[in-house]
Amino acid sequence: HVDNIHRMAQYCDNKTDCRRTQILEYFGEIFDRVKCIRSNMNTICDNCKLLETKKSKSIDMTEKIKLICNSIKIVCSREDLTLLHLADILKGSFNSKIIEKNHHILEFHSKMDEFKKCDIERLIRKLIFLGFLKEELKVIKNPDTVACYVRPGPKISQLNSILNKCKSDLRRLIKSLGVEHKIDNFNLIFTRKMILEMLSQLPTDKETLLGITGYTEAIFNNYKGNDFLKIFQHYSNLKASIETKNEASFNVHKSKYKRKTGSNDQSVKKSKIKSF
Ligand SMILES: [Zn+2]
Repeated sequence: HVDNIHRMAQYCDNKTDCRRTQILEYFGEIFDRVKCIRSNMNTICDNCKLLETKKSKSIDMTEKIKLICNSIKIVCSREDLTLLHLADILKGSFNSKIIEKNHHILEFHSKMDEFKKCDIERLIRKLIFLGFLKEELKVIKNPDTVACYVRPGPKISQLNSILNKCKSDLRRLIKSLGVEHKIDNFNLIFTRKMILEMLSQLPTDKETLLGITGYTEAIFNNYKGNDFLKIFQHYSNLKASIETKNEASFNVHKSKYKRKTGSNDQSVKKSKIKSF
């Protein structure tokens, strides 16, 4: 299988992930590299040795991954994208397939242009392994071939379901406040925009809640601010438990990630879609 050959090549090329973790990951097992690092220096794998001798470093990719997952979940639900094509988009390629499908105007195009393509592929595989994305086989007729496309994974569905439940609880609370205060048009205070901002941030303390656009101290005091916080705390905990389940670090080799400027083809005009 071509994909397996590709993965084998990646395994050889990968100078950052623990060898033991990679092999066991292939068989669906999770191995904490700390065990490899803490083992006798004679049996430590070459990549962990690099990490231990400070020749590679860990990078916090959380914010970047959130942005990428949010964009990918929309595009991959409506279009058939292979893992390699997705990596090309993130790398910022302007190859003919990307131009033809207008993927150079996607918001996440070139969002990882400072990384090597093999590391981007590695990150996507990790997101698949962790359940944020998944691969789906599709039979294509004439000629009969099987293609493998990336789709939003089970964790994204779980997170969406949590946010929907949180939204329902919020609406119920706002409705009951409207009845209590005899205000018909309560959505003039709790606007749709405000609720969307609350859902994207899930503020768990008063200070953060007051940072929501249009939400004031008077609203907090008059309309059960603490009840809002209880809802957000509950769903924020649920969200964190899903996001961190099986969480693994992502390491890159230190010396290779100096951002290159002007590496993309400037002759192609790039306008970004902001509506995602
Ligand atoms: Zn190792």
